[in-house]
Amino acid sequence: MSSTNRSAAILQSINEVVGPSSAKKPIALHEPDFSGTKAWSYLKDCLDTGWVSSAGHWVSRFEQELCAHTGAANAVAVTNGTVALRLALHLVGVRPGDEVLLPPLSFVATANAVAHLRAIPHFVDIEKTSLGIDPQALSERLEQLARKQGGQLINQETGRRIAALLPVHVFGHPADGPSLHQISKEWDLPLVEDAAEALGSWRNATHCGLFGEVGILSFNGNKLITTGGGGALLTNNDELAQQAKHLSTTAKLPHAWEVEHDAVGWNDRLPNLNAALGVAQLEDLEQRLLAKRKLAERYSNAFANLEGVELVAEPPGTRSNYWLKTLRLTDEDPSEAEKFRQLVLREAHAIGLLIRPVWKLLHRLPMYQTSPKGSLLMAEDQGQRMLNLPSSPQLLR
Ligand SMILES: *Cc1c(COP(=O)(O)O)cnc(C)c1O
Repeated sequence: MSSTNRSAAILQSINEVVGPSSAKKPIALHEPDFSGTKAWSYLKDCLDTGWVSSAGHWVSRFEQELCAHTGAANAVAVTNGTVALRLALHLVGVRPGDEVLLPPLSFVATANAVAHLRAIPHFVDIEKTSLGIDPQALSERLEQLARKQGGQLINQETGRRIAALLPVHVFGHPADGPSLHQISKEWDLPLVEDAAEALGSWRNATHCGLFGEVGILSFNGNKLITTGGGGALLTNNDELAQQAKHLSTTAKLPHAWEVEHDAVGWNDRLPNLNAALGVAQLEDLEQRLLAKRKLAERYSNAFANLEGVELVAEPPGTRSNYWLKTLRLTDEDPSEAEKFRQLVLREAHAIGLLIRPVWKLLHRLPMYQTSPKGSLLMAEDQGQRMLNLPSSPQLLR
């Protein structure tokens, strides 16, 4: 089959699933949806009562609902996922000059949160099944260069402390949390999970973000539910949750009228307005997750008869939220796949299918090119093959 025909067949299959598209009537990658929710009346409550800012009952209710939906003992709502990550890393002890282990296949915010603390991302390869950090590659990397010295874990090559492990649950597919947790225990490394994309994703009985010390969610405009901007920390550690609340509220000491602070805090708390939007969509979470699964199933069926492509599926033993549907080009040579991908992208955008290549790998971005890294062969390979498809749950409603 010629490349042009192969591309046309893929685009036709996508249109079969999501309906017709055109340059004038494009179909986006992921869009917010408030239909069928009580968002208007909850927002009205904020305006009518004047409780619009970073205190108010919708914030506590949003946090309680997040706990109910994830099984977390604590949820702390903040202004966005990046801030949640920065706060989580700070709380487990990441300090300027430390290294944090993370995968190169992620949204830039994962590495940025590390850099915001003046710490250094250290990239470790991914596995093909979950697209998350490969536990084996991680173990080998640590064996190779990490030594325990005076109660600290030191990278022998750079002389810097390795301070945390930061896996990502990519596109909502759960990374291998149990193995990563095991490694974090062996090496005394706090485990912080970037579960920004993984609300509603589970491995066995554990929700993503709860395999280690603390995890984070994002409620940015393109996520499964959105608060406009927003994020949250999830943790079963009460002390850590208390600290998160304290530091995200300018470290203000509780008092009826005195204004006093006991640390350099941040102003990170989620406003009541945004939380109200979050509560309205959480009430619809199960339906959204069902629509997401159905959409994934339709894509998977539509691609079943095409050669050279497959839909990225949830890893065995997990339940993914299928936040983004991802097409994998199975060409033998990844650079051939990458060349073909450019053609598909051009032709898709010409007919209003706003599909996207997966992120450019983080170690290739100018600000992270000199970061330490292991062999990243699998990430390099997969990074050239993947295309994200229109994934809004409302496409099926
Ligand atoms: C969205 C996202 C973030 C950041 O969340 P914001 O709310 O946009 O700051 C972090 N990591 C990953 C993997 C994300 O997809």
